[in-house]
Order: sequence, then C-alpha cells, then structure tokens
Amino acid sequence: MEPDNVLEVFKTVQKKSLISRTEIAKITKLSPSTVGRCTQRLLEKNFFVEKRVGKSSGGRPPILLDINRENGFSVGIEVGESHIDAVLLNLVNEMKDSNSKRLSNHLSPNALADDIKNMIDELVNKAHISQEDIISVGVGLPGIVSADQKRLLLSPNLKWKDVDMARLLEGKLNKPVFLDNGANLMTFAEYHYNKLSSNAMVLGIIVGRGIGTGLVVKESIFRGVNGAALEAGHSVIKTDGPLCSCGRRGCAEALASLPRLIESYNKQSKSKKIDNVRELNELFLKKDKLAVELINEEAFYLSVLSANLANIFNPSHIIIGGEISPILPLMIKTIKTSFLDQVLTTNRCELLTSQLNEKSIAYGAAIMAIEKEIEGYI
Ligand SMILES: [Zn+2]
Repeated sequence: MEPDNVLEVFKTVQKKSLISRTEIAKITKLSPSTVGRCTQRLLEKNFFVEKRVGKSSGGRPPILLDINRENGFSVGIEVGESHIDAVLLNLVNEMKDSNSKRLSNHLSPNALADDIKNMIDELVNKAHISQEDIISVGVGLPGIVSADQKRLLLSPNLKWKDVDMARLLEGKLNKPVFLDNGANLMTFAEYHYNKLSSNAMVLGIIVGRGIGTGLVVKESIFRGVNGAALEAGHSVIKTDGPLCSCGRRGCAEALASLPRLIESYNKQSKSKKIDNVRELNELFLKKDKLAVELINEEAFYLSVLSANLANIFNPSHIIIGGEISPILPLMIKTIKTSFLDQVLTTNRCELLTSQLNEKSIAYGAAIMAIEKEIEGYI
C-alpha cells in the first residue's frame, strides 16, 4: 500500500464527508481492496468514524465514513518575528482555539521548545480536550528547513544554525513534530482556507521583515531539490536598486520589505517619524502626501514581482499576505491594475489578499502536520 493512497483516501473523506467505500474507490480510482486497507488504517488511528445514515434501497442503510471531528486535533505553531502563535485545528481544518505569546529576544532552542509546550498545554486545557487527542504538531519557522522537515538549517532572524528542532520538541511533547518555512505554510493555509480546487496552482507572497514566496501545486507544497525553492524575495526587480542582505542590488526584498518602507518614510519625512505599518496606514488615510506616494510605490514593486512570478509559473492564483496586511486594502487595486499592465495577456491569474492574516502560518502548519503524519502510514 502506497503512503500517498492513505492520504488520498483521507482527503476524499475530508472533502465529501459521509461517503461509502465504493464511492471513495470511484473518486480516487483506487482498487476496492486498497480503499479497504487505507480505510481500516485510518479507522484504527481514529481519523475516521463509521456511521449508518441516509437512504438505502431496502434493508439497513449502508455504512458511511466520516472524519472524526471530536477526538482528533492538530496544533500549528508560528515562530514569527515578534510573536509565537498557536492554533488548534480539528480534522476538518476548523480552528477550535488559538493563543499568542511575545517572543523574547535571544531565545535558546530549548527555551523556545518549553514556550511551545506551555502554549500547547494551555490550548488543550482551554478546549477541554485531552493530550491524547493531539495527533501531531507543525511548526513554521523563519528560515530554511531540512528536506525531512526535522531540522532548522539556518535562521538569520533567530541567529540559529543547524538546530535539531523537531526532535527537541518531540522529546518534550511526545508527539510527532514537523517543521516548515513560513512562506510555504502561508501559501498552503490560503489554499485550504479558500477551498480552492485540487487543480489550483497557488503562489503566495508574504511581505514582512523580508519577502518570502511559496507555491502549492496539486495540493502539495513545492519544495525544489533541497527545500530552497521560491526564494523570489531575492529576485532583482531594479538593477540599480539598493543593496540587499544577499549581496545583490535591487532585490524585491531590498525594495519592498516593511523595514525598508518605514525607513523610506522616516528618511524623507521632515516632521513625522513612524514605527510601524499601522501608523503609515493612518497617514495614508489622512492623505499625507509622502505616505500615499510610498504606498503606491510599494504597490508597484509588488505588482512587478507578481507579474514576473505569474509569467514564470503561470499560477491560477497569487495570494499576498503577511505583516503588510494592514495596508494591503489600500494597495490591492493599484497592484491589480499594474499587474495586468505587465503580465502577458495569455496569463490568467487571479490576485488575492490573505484571508487568514496573522494566523495563516500557524493554520498551514497544523494542516501540514496532519498530512505528514498520514503520509507515514503504510
Ligand atoms: Zn537579495
């Protein structure tokens, strides 16, 4: 039995709910015996429940399968730039609870793992569930994660290099733990939250301290050969632009990251100084000339990046989100118009803004952790 088959059967029941084994075989094109074995495995693991409902042509109604909505949960964590966010999801991706904690500076991996453990304990208590109901834990980290999603290879933000993060957490939590990069998880979260079709190809652009990008193809995160794909924040969009942290000039990140935007305002403004994007939002609404100019410029840079990515990948959707979210409503019209001016006319790509905002990475991490766990079942 292929591990992919178990996941496919799980996803089919997740989408349809109350479905017979025969119907699953029809939809997935798997043989009835494979469907039977996968179903058995998922029943043993408490992912599924059997119900006898609905019509039957005489005799007892047929046995249908449904997702166990009461006893199976996944926790998703985002280790962000200033906060740790945690969400509790049931197996149909409904958010049952969430919490947030300030991230202290110069945290050690061990202290971070303790913080995560405490947040999960809190979630479990608040939701009145038991620790045994948590199936697996996903963690979104600001950095590059190993191909097996167990090690954090490099995080400039946390100033960590090669940390055995998943094993450290597994030791404390006694649950399987999987790691991923924030941009991948935000894209994955938006794909699920927007309930896009399995044929959708979704490209996510996350704008915060840096610019990250992720891609979901055929319901899966595209990772490249060793997990370093889609570093589009370091694609050059202005060759004579400012120097980027990567050593090149005019990367999208060097032109359009939030620290750059705030720095530009403070450099050019004679009177006012700002600390964050919300203050810039207020100035824009008060028609502050410089704020309007800089936000329009930001929208233009994001449209260039989006058009380049649309021309290269031909995605069905591009979704923009991250800490830039408070000012996205001010820019989206300009981004869309400018995007359409630049993208090839053969390209049919819909531009959207993130619906989950600050919870998106944690939400994506929880779904990823369940899918990774099921992939391990053979
Ligand atoms: Zn760069």
